[in-house]
Amino acid sequence: MDVQTSATRRVLVAKPRGYCAGVDRAVQAVERALEQYGAPVYVRKQIVHNTHVVKTLEERGAVFVEETEEVPEGAIVVFSAHGVAPAVHEEAAGRRLKTIDATCPLVTKVHNEAKRFAAKDYDILLIGHEGHEEVEGTAGEAPEHIQLVDGLDGVGEVSVRDPEKVVWLSQTTLSVDETTETVARLRTRFPNLIDPPSDDICYATSNRQTAVKAIAAESDLVIVVGSTNSSNSKRLVEVAKDYGATASYLVDDASFVREEWLEGVRTVGLTSGASVPEELVEGVLAKLAGLGFTDVEEVESVQESMRFALPHELRRDLRAV
Ligand code: SF4
Repeated sequence: MDVQTSATRRVLVAKPRGYCAGVDRAVQAVERALEQYGAPVYVRKQIVHNTHVVKTLEERGAVFVEETEEVPEGAIVVFSAHGVAPAVHEEAAGRRLKTIDATCPLVTKVHNEAKRFAAKDYDILLIGHEGHEEVEGTAGEAPEHIQLVDGLDGVGEVSVRDPEKVVWLSQTTLSVDETTETVARLRTRFPNLIDPPSDDICYATSNRQTAVKAIAAESDLVIVVGSTNSSNSKRLVEVAKDYGATASYLVDDASFVREEWLEGVRTVGLTSGASVPEELVEGVLAKLAGLGFTDVEEVESVQESMRFALPHELRRDLRAV
């Protein structure tokens, strides 16, 4: 029999969690574009990797497509926060599309690093997940110079022209710890491997991992709110388990939380990925409260104040109005 009382059942909520500056900017870009130009506004790929955000924007008139060729000639298209390869910009120009580039400035930073090192003829080892849109966009900046290293297992497959002229870059949403290990292993093969000028894993990814580490050891279960295609959300589940949570699950919203997960659980940790609106976390808190988890404590590990301006194409048109 479960001898716990409701008073002993608590929730530790990690902070920071949820929306980062890049996601906030990208979602606002679509909202403002809908206000400014009217529906439909086309969006190439999911603007951010969250099913609820995509559904909400669809209801307001956004039309999500996989490729620019699906967008009618001359229409408006927003590029997602994950960034696009130069070939996608060219294709859009060829179809006379009006583009709004909502690529996160921190992804653009990695694109610029890739271009700079490629111009100096370096071999670039891009640590990231094969098939992820961000990796495709970054690799598209210099395909002849960039090789993908998909985690530790990918290290053995790398071959470079000159071991003295190799740099590593990374996807912005990786596990900080795993990337450190991958780089260390790459360095055993290429001792003169050059580091990126500044961290490619972004502040939001890294802060959310720090925050989940702070609650994981005290939590029997960590619930991460996020979609299954969200890289940074999936990393939070892994980090929670690595740092002491007995179990950790990724849920899109409260309806995915199963009561059997909570049997015998005294403390639930709760956090959310960088593309998750806070209302979804509130929904999980309400469900937990209904199951006796009424003692809620927020654990803040890092303070965040980052903000990004809207894409310049949109600001220009908004100013004109
Ligand atoms: S997770 Fe990081 S790189 Fe991605 S949109 Fe947010 S701030 Fe930008």
